Amino acid sequence: MFEQFKDWYENRHEYAKKWKERTGGKVIGTFCTYVPEEILYAADILPVRILGSHEPQDVSEPHIFAMFCPFCRDCLAQGLKGRFDYLDGITIAQSCLHIRQTFTSWDLHIPVDFTYYLTHPMHIQSPRAIPYLTEELKEFKKAVEEWTGKEITEEDLKRGIEIMNTNRRLLQQVYELRKQPNPPLTGLEAMIMVVSSQMVDKREHNKALVELLEKLPSRSLDEPGERLMILGSEDDDTKFIAMVEDLGSRIVIDEHCTGTRYFYEEVNTNGDALASIAERYVKRIPCPSKDWPERTRVDHIVKLAKEYDIQGAIVMQMKFCDPHELDTPAIKKALENDVGVPTIFLEFDVTVPIGQFKTRVEAFLEILREEDLF
Ligand code: SF4
Repeated sequence: MFEQFKDWYENRHEYAKKWKERTGGKVIGTFCTYVPEEILYAADILPVRILGSHEPQDVSEPHIFAMFCPFCRDCLAQGLKGRFDYLDGITIAQSCLHIRQTFTSWDLHIPVDFTYYLTHPMHIQSPRAIPYLTEELKEFKKAVEEWTGKEITEEDLKRGIEIMNTNRRLLQQVYELRKQPNPPLTGLEAMIMVVSSQMVDKREHNKALVELLEKLPSRSLDEPGERLMILGSEDDDTKFIAMVEDLGSRIVIDEHCTGTRYFYEEVNTNGDALASIAERYVKRIPCPSKDWPERTRVDHIVKLAKEYDIQGAIVMQMKFCDPHELDTPAIKKALENDVGVPTIFLEFDVTVPIGQFKTRVEAFLEILREEDLF
């Protein structure tokens, strides 16, 4: 049922190369989920998220300090190794400083035809954030038009919004099924499904999601063990997720930029398209780098914990990821003290010590099982 998504996830580069051959279109690498993909789809460009490979590497050191987040260094390594050599361009919308360094190093050392740094407001809680971003999106649209030599009309933008919104809605429908006492999909399948949506043409992904939604409700898996939430820094570490679920638990919800933070909330389809896109990216569930002065993410995480009836949460943080590190104490406190959900904190690197993590997760699940007895 999830073979297509797995194939896209594992063969992302082959997919993009074939897409170019097939359509004659351009492909842009995106560094963060704040990039407004609606505008790229409006211009018939394929946005592809640049992610790491989870393999040890020694090529990024001359460009990014070792104390930058390992995910960012892994991403740059993919570019330096030529794995994204089919990209016509790269773009980023400002979020955290680590990933911006990856963009800057890529821009300096890996030739592409088009690069664009989108100034996305950091103070998203300011009343000026939406008008500010609307003006920035106008500049971005103009740059894309100049590069492709093709005007992006209001109709094109509405089409781009529709492609993105449909994908968000369908992913949300699949996630709704995860609220069931025995969800018909695993956490690993959910992760691969969402991450693959960041790599392939959303129109194809939407078709696959429609087919999946026809079959999924009648699928029956073994009874789930402990219902878990995973949350924190960027995470597409499928080996780790598989290990956690192989221990008998089931991941039923996430709060990652490779999960719900990516696809929650649609763009309003009434009114000016660019202003509506700006509104969505300002009001979406924020990356912690933008979630201030009020910490809104904590309440959102507690809400997810209740909605998905979780028994435990794995709080993950990429080593040196200061945005998430700053949020961790407040999240742990809210989950443990306010809703009585035990948490375990794990620090991730490009590769994780699976044996050591397995022991820690086993001990955590043991605690949850003992709590269940009383
Ligand atoms: S938010 Fe954290 S994980 Fe994401 S790019 Fe920044 S430092 Fe890395």
